[in-house]
This record gives sequence, structure tokens and C-alpha cells, in this order.
Amino acid sequence: MTQLETDPQADPGSRATFDSLNPATGDVVGTHPIHTEAEIRAAVERAREEAVWWSALSYAERERHLNTWKGAMTRRLAQLAGIMHLETGKPHGDAMLEASLAIDHLAWAASHARKVLGRRRVPSGMIMANQVATVEYAPLGVIGVIGPWNYPAFTPMGSIVYALAAGNAVVFKPSEYTPGVGEWLARTFTEAVGRPVLQVVTGLGETGAALCRAGVDKVAFTGSTATGKRVMAACAESLTPVIIEAGGKDAIIVDEDADIVAAADAALWGACSNAGQTCIGVERAYVHERVYDRFVEVLTEQARGLRADADAGAQIGPITMPSQLALIRSHIQDALDQGGRAVLGGVEAVGERFVQPTILVDVPEHSLAVQEETFGPTITVAKVRSMEEAITRTNATRYGLGSTVFSQARGMEIASQLRAGMTAINGVITFAAIPSLPFGGVGDSGFGRIHGPDGLKEFTYAKSIARQRFKPALALTTFTRTEKAEARLASLIAMLHGRGSTLPKG
Ligand code: NDP
Repeated sequence: MTQLETDPQADPGSRATFDSLNPATGDVVGTHPIHTEAEIRAAVERAREEAVWWSALSYAERERHLNTWKGAMTRRLAQLAGIMHLETGKPHGDAMLEASLAIDHLAWAASHARKVLGRRRVPSGMIMANQVATVEYAPLGVIGVIGPWNYPAFTPMGSIVYALAAGNAVVFKPSEYTPGVGEWLARTFTEAVGRPVLQVVTGLGETGAALCRAGVDKVAFTGSTATGKRVMAACAESLTPVIIEAGGKDAIIVDEDADIVAAADAALWGACSNAGQTCIGVERAYVHERVYDRFVEVLTEQARGLRADADAGAQIGPITMPSQLALIRSHIQDALDQGGRAVLGGVEAVGERFVQPTILVDVPEHSLAVQEETFGPTITVAKVRSMEEAITRTNATRYGLGSTVFSQARGMEIASQLRAGMTAINGVITFAAIPSLPFGGVGDSGFGRIHGPDGLKEFTYAKSIARQRFKPALALTTFTRTEKAEARLASLIAMLHGRGSTLPKG
């Protein structure tokens, strides 16, 4: 069984369904069930049974299964990219890139789980010198993963594969715009492994809400900040922990000594790839006044070579969610109304399905295009007098997801002052493709981490064990404790911690 079993009591004729559409044409790509609350609960119960089998396997056995799945996915990469292309509209090459990176994360999680999570000895300290102390990270059980549509493979896989590698079963609710990708992932997993440790449930927002209440042990949510708050509220009812990977308003900082052509190229890719629908997309640029004019000139020149359309030659696909078009238009309009200028694109760049690249300058910091997530192929470019000003303006946001710095001499110094979960220096979005680096944000961008060692630990609980090796010289945790033992403890504490802590006189 690869798909969720449907409710046997439900009349098949009355089953509610929804269509996923090709955003470039409006054609129906596939029709999918809206799973009922009872079906979602049944999926979680089934997952709990699978978790018993899966968690009892050794790390090596799980790695072998995950590698089988990895091989199956890799051999059918073009098929996966094809579904992603149809459901999101993104160019086929971009879908291939996204799916490839997801597979690379799968490989890393599978091969590092034991090292990161396996049992290890830790020092037991002087007071408890008679104890052997060990810590290991045990799986939580069943993880509910709720994913967005913009990176329908890479983003949820950032939770799914780390949760699986840590020994959990997963029930995945993909976005209503990309259910086919979710079904493909669950189907190939079950074909490769032989058991539905990864299941998919499909439907609309309500399906995600039902998953939060279905008895899972943790919810890994990726989506907008507003929905993240609803997910947290639902999970609070049952004290179910959550990871929230939400939106961003990422900036690129360009210093006076930066390679301007490379910085413009990075800003353009960060702003316009995936039609700007990237949580870690570049939406703002702060450029040193000495190189500002040249940066705007090079960026505009490079952007003129880009085109959003449905044909294979276009580098930018459609806006996946039709309702987003009005929001993108409103941000551009607001920027222009407040004194900004469009050096490329503008309000007329927003079409019925596609948005052409738009570069805005002289936009006041309080405008929507600088403050709110636009999620379109647009960028605001502002002139700054110093890197200190660039840092202050970059940090003046309620989000804190990704960031980019272009500087020869001061890259690390600037990066370390940015209030953002991730920073790329002299590159863009590079951190997301490095499996050993944790991924996540602060503030309205959410909390918790996927990817890397932190991403594996996120789906576990720490299990601490203290084992007595021999009788203690100092018997402290007993009612037979003697005054002599207490006096010896006082001397030991004084010896260990008493020095260098003299309080100032007076
Ligand atoms: P949404 O918040 O609209 O939806 C995200 C997921 O939540 C979807 O599967 C959605 O289902 C589901 N959902 C909707 N309502 C509820 C609910 N009440 N309870 C539980 N689940 C619910 O986000 P988008 O899909 O529009 O994704 C875009 C957003 O995601 C952007 O803000 C972007 O920045 C962010 N994002 C963040 C990333 C990160 O790693 N930080 C990565 C990628 C995107 P349905 O689609 O069926 O409504």
C-alpha cells in the first residue's frame, strides 16, 4: 500500500476531491481525494505501527532502506521533476535542481543519523564519578509534515528525510497546489522499502489542521507565518511540539569592494528564480554608495535578459498561486505611490499568470515592498553610506530567515551581525544546499531547525542514562547520608567551584 487507505464506509461516489492545476495554463494536472478526519486519524494510527517496526531497525538497516529509496528517486528524477513542473509551473531544469538537492539531503541524513543520534558516553563529573553517563536521541514516533507548494520536494523533504533517518514514521500533508508531488514521494518510498513508513494525506487547509489534531508526536510545518500561528494554536491543545519554517524578507548586502557582476547575478537569481516564490529569496538589496550606480546598472542589464513565460526558453515560470498576483501588484503599486521608481518592470509587469522581473529603487523603508514578503520576482535596491547602515536596515524586519553578503574583506564580520538563521557570503542560497548546515529562522520566520545535526535531533528526544559502576565514596542521594558525607561534599564543592568567585567588598 502506498497511498492512504480510504474510509471503507464512505460511498466512493460521494468522496470529496480537488484538482491540482497547471498554473501556466489552468489545465487539470490531477484529481485527489480530500481525506476525512477519520482517514487522517487512521493514517496516524497506521504510522504508529510502522514506527514500531522502523524504530526497531538498526541505523545501518534504516540507512540501507533509505538508500534504496534514494536510488529509486534518482533513477526517476526526470519523472519527479515533470510532476513538479506541471504542478508549480517552474522550469524543468529548476525542478531537476530542486529534486537533486532533496536527494543529497536524503543521503546525508541517512548516513549521519548514527553518528549524531547514537548512544555516546559523556563525562559524569567529580561528584558522580562512580556513574557512567550516556546520552542518545530516541525517535519521537509519528511526525506530521505540512508542506508548501513553492518547493514541493526540497522543502518537505528537509523534514521528512531527517525524521525518517531518526527512526520516525511520517504522515505528510502536501500543499493543495502540489498533491501529486507528495503522492509520488510516498509511493516511491513504499515501493522501495516495502512498507508505508511514509504516508501522504491530501486535501485543503482543513486537512493540515486535522493532521495537527490527529495524535502525531510533532508537527513540522513549512508555510506562511499566519498559518504557522494557526498550526501552533491547534498543536497547543494537545501539547504537540512544532517546528515552524515560515516566510522571510531576506536582504543582500553589497560592500564597496564586492565583485559587482557576481553580486548582481546573485541578487537576480535570489530575487527571480522560481518566480521569486522562495522563502529564502532575495527581496531587498542594500548597496554601498560607492558602487550603487554600477550595481543597479549591471543588475538591470542582467535582468533584461530574463523572461517569464510558459515556453521552454523562459527562465521564469508562472505565479503558482493565482491570488498572489494581486499581492505582488499591490506591493509594487505601494512602492511607486510612496516615491519609489521602477528601473525595470513595474505594475504592468504583473500579468494574468506571469510576472516579469521588477527592480525598484528609492523605495521608503516603511513601504510594503520593503516590510512584507512579496513572493514575486521583484527586488528593492537601496543606497547605504556604510556597512553598519546596511546591517541595521537588514535587521530592521520582523523576519529573520536567510541573508546574503557580497564583500571581499568584511564578509564574515558582516554576516555575524545579521539577525538571520542563515547567511551566504559571496554566493546566494548556498547554505540550503549544504546538508550539514542547519536551516531555519528567528522571529516571524519561525523556530526549530531542519537539515544537519540539529535537523536530525529536532525529531528526537534526548535520552539520558546514568549507570552506577561502583558504590559512591560520597553517598548523597540516600536518607542514610551522614554529616561526614555532607562535610566532604562542602569541601569538594569549595575546591571545585570556590576559587575566583570572591565577591567585591562593600
Ligand atoms: P500556507 O501557509 O498557505 O500553507 C502551508 C501548508 O499549510 C499547506 O500545506 C496548507 O494547505 C497548510 N494549511 C493551510 N491552513 C492550515 C491550517 N489551518 N492548519 C494546518 N495546515 C494548514 O503557505 P504556502 O503554501 O502559501 O507557502 C508559502 C509560504 O511558505 C511563504 O510564506 C514562504 O515564505 C513559506 N516557506 C517557508 C520556507 C522555510 O523553510 N522557512 C520554505 C518554503 C516556503 P493548503 O495548501 O491545502 O491550503
